[in-house]
Amino acid sequence: MAKGFFATLFVRPQPVPTPSAADWYEASGAALFAGILTDDLARLQDLAGQLLADKTFTPVADAHPTGADIAGIALRAALPILKLGLSWYQGWSEVVLYPAPFIHETEEMDAHGVVHAMHPIRSGEAWTGGPLILSLDDLKGSGRGAGYDVVIHEFAHKLDMANGVVNGLPPLHGDMLVEDWAAAFEPAYRDFCRRVDAGEEMEIDPYASENPAEFFAVLSEYFFDLPEVLVEAYPAVYEQMRRFFRQDPMERFYDSSDT
Ligand SMILES: [Zn+2]
Repeated sequence: MAKGFFATLFVRPQPVPTPSAADWYEASGAALFAGILTDDLARLQDLAGQLLADKTFTPVADAHPTGADIAGIALRAALPILKLGLSWYQGWSEVVLYPAPFIHETEEMDAHGVVHAMHPIRSGEAWTGGPLILSLDDLKGSGRGAGYDVVIHEFAHKLDMANGVVNGLPPLHGDMLVEDWAAAFEPAYRDFCRRVDAGEEMEIDPYASENPAEFFAVLSEYFFDLPEVLVEAYPAVYEQMRRFFRQDPMERFYDSSDT
C-alpha cells in the first residue's frame, strides 16, 4: 500500500508555482512589452491572472517551470487578446510544459497513399479543442525583439482555430471583410513562398512558408515582437492584423518616445 501511495506521488503532475509580485515584474520587463501603456499593462496582468485561473498548467518530462516562467507565459498569451478578451481562448483547458523541444510523433500519408511515421522536433504545438504545448527552453528565447515568440505563435494558432478550422483565417470582427483579409494574406503568402523557394535571404522565418496557418502564426510573432519587419515586407497584412488584434505595435514601440 505504501509503495502504491509513493508511486502515485511520483507520477502525479507537480503543481506549477504561483508567480510572486517579483515574478510578474520580471516577466513584464521583456522587450515584447516595451512601450505598453500603464492602463494596458494593468489590463494585461489582469488577463494573465484570469488565464492562469482558467487553464491548467501541466509540466511533463521533468519540466520545472519557475514562477517567472509561468508569469511570462501568461502575459505573452494575454497580449494577443488584450483588446479581444479571454473568451477567445474558450473550448480547451490545458497548457502542457516540456523542458525542451519535444518530439511529435505522427503519421502522414504521401501522394502515393503511403503512410510515413514523422518525428519532427517541436518548440510548441496547439491542438484544435485540445491542449497547447510549449517548451520552456524556447520560452527563454521568446519576446526579445527578434520576431520570435513561441507563446504568441501557439496562442495565435488558438485564435485561428476559434472557428474550428486551422487555415490562417481567424473569425474576423464585424467591421472586417474576409475578402480584405484574403486580398492581403494570399499574395503575401505566395510572394513569401516564392522567395523561400528561390533561396532568398529572408528577415522572416522561412517556416512561415509551411502553410497559411503557419504564415499567420509566424507573422503574429513579428506583429508583436518585431513589427517593422512585417510592415516593411507586407504592409497590407500588418493592417489586417492591426484591425484583427485591435492593437498597433508600431505605434507602441516607436511613437511613445516622440511625445
Ligand atoms: Zn505553428
